[in-house]
Amino acid sequence: MSKRRLPRNAAARIGNERIAILLELAEQAVRDGRDDRAIRYVTLARRIGMKTRTTLPPGFRYCRECMLPMIPGSNCSVRLTGRKVVSTCGSCGAVRRVPYLRENRK
Ligand SMILES: [Zn+2]
Repeated sequence: MSKRRLPRNAAARIGNERIAILLELAEQAVRDGRDDRAIRYVTLARRIGMKTRTTLPPGFRYCRECMLPMIPGSNCSVRLTGRKVVSTCGSCGAVRRVPYLRENRK
């Protein structure tokens, strides 16, 4: 790859395209039971995101520990406990808690 610098918005656009492709492949890999490939795809997508300073699409969820895409009903469990959504990775057991009912906060 050439070292020539792209303008930031051009890099971001290309990055977004490539991230979208990689994440699609990652979800497909999970469905095919190829977790090793899925982890590789997510790692690459994150790296592109950092390089081009774009974020992964907000709808895409993955385990922060083992980088496996989290697909509810397939490889992770999602439970509601009062104020938090608790997502547990089915592969490494990492737990992620995201608060909801923000308006209830005092
Ligand atoms: Zn995990």
